[in-house]
Amino acid sequence: MSVLNKKTVEDIEVAGKKVLVRCDFNVKMENGVITSDKRVVAALPTIEYLINKGAKVILCSHLGRPKGEFDPEFSMAPVAECLSKYLGKEVKLAADVVGESAQALAASLNDGDVMLLENVRFEKGETKNDEELSKKFAALAEVYVNDAFGSAHRAHSSTAGVAAFLPSACGFLIQKELEVMGKALENPVRPLVAILGGAKVSDKIGVIENLIDKCDTLIVGGGMSYTFFRALGYSVGISLCEEDKIELASSLMAKAKIRGINLMIPIDNKLGKEFDANTESIIVDSDSIPDGWMGLDIGSKTQELFANAIEGAGTIIWNGPMGVSEWENFAGGTIAVATAVANATDKGAVSIIGGGDSAAAVKKLGFEKKMTHISTGGGASLEFLEGKELPGIACINDK
Ligand code: ADP
Ligand code: MG
Repeated sequence: MSVLNKKTVEDIEVAGKKVLVRCDFNVKMENGVITSDKRVVAALPTIEYLINKGAKVILCSHLGRPKGEFDPEFSMAPVAECLSKYLGKEVKLAADVVGESAQALAASLNDGDVMLLENVRFEKGETKNDEELSKKFAALAEVYVNDAFGSAHRAHSSTAGVAAFLPSACGFLIQKELEVMGKALENPVRPLVAILGGAKVSDKIGVIENLIDKCDTLIVGGGMSYTFFRALGYSVGISLCEEDKIELASSLMAKAKIRGINLMIPIDNKLGKEFDANTESIIVDSDSIPDGWMGLDIGSKTQELFANAIEGAGTIIWNGPMGVSEWENFAGGTIAVATAVANATDKGAVSIIGGGDSAAAVKKLGFEKKMTHISTGGGASLEFLEGKELPGIACINDK
């Protein structure tokens, strides 16, 4: 299966048809008020396309974590209101998910109308990918479109199960994720430079193992580098280290050598006395970390080394910060890498940022627009980079 071969909304006939669209409207809320409507805005291109084509649009999503029954705290009402405002037309909210209200509203739609189902997780079967529920979703419509990338790693009724009973396609959001990330993994412009950081090796094993077969250069930074140091016999003081992953780090380095991949780990580090934003700090070479200190960022020599490796890239995949980037004193490595990635992109490289904390660091620096693609799905993009098949994408009809 090639993910580059999935049908998109543009490949299917939608005029006059009832189209069920699974969106990611899992917006940030406080006291019943939406505090960030970014996800609603991100879904608009697909919805507007369908309206303009004269489809009868039935939207659905989950919001928060209700417990399989109606709960006003997790009602989609604020989303319906927000959508109405952006679309400039009323988006009616069904009182249920697949019940009488949803069925009646769906039956009453005219071409170009838009409605929203209640929170799909009000149905107990949703997260179990229950077949009966999937059939009920399917019965509401004639076509299924999935545009919820952030939920595509979940096999739920509204994200995957329903596709077994309707012709299906992906929306523009998923299409972009597949085009950019799928191409980077299947057929990248070389050299492909993968940058992996974050706290733990164990979080990223799958990504490292998948990318080590594909990339030309693999840069390792962040908390996981200390496990690699141990594999080289260095002491790491009180740095984050996963004893049970030292052997794995060793074998990854050996694999890289055999494959001729340039695996780079930090040559110097910024250490702190304790895990605190304002702790005193020193910079030392990787083989000289003193007892009682912990590595919290890459050092300045490493910043330069990594930036040089990133400079000549054709494709860059970045997941995970180089240090505790939430703290100013230990954000330098992540800033240096973000700057190098932005510069490389300016020169024509394709850059992909996956991972919540890395994306947050890029946004904080104002580099959001400089990157080719910042994935919208944390867990989903991680699983995609691990080379796993995402149920919400696998279920979509091939072209
Ligand atoms: P992403 O969300 O981009 O995938 P992760 O969640 O894997 O990234 O990792 C981010 C976290 O890793 C941040 O909270 C950061 O503080 C932490 N981190 C990075 N380097 C270190 C380090 N040297 N020691 C401890 N924590 C670290
Ligand atoms: Mg994270």
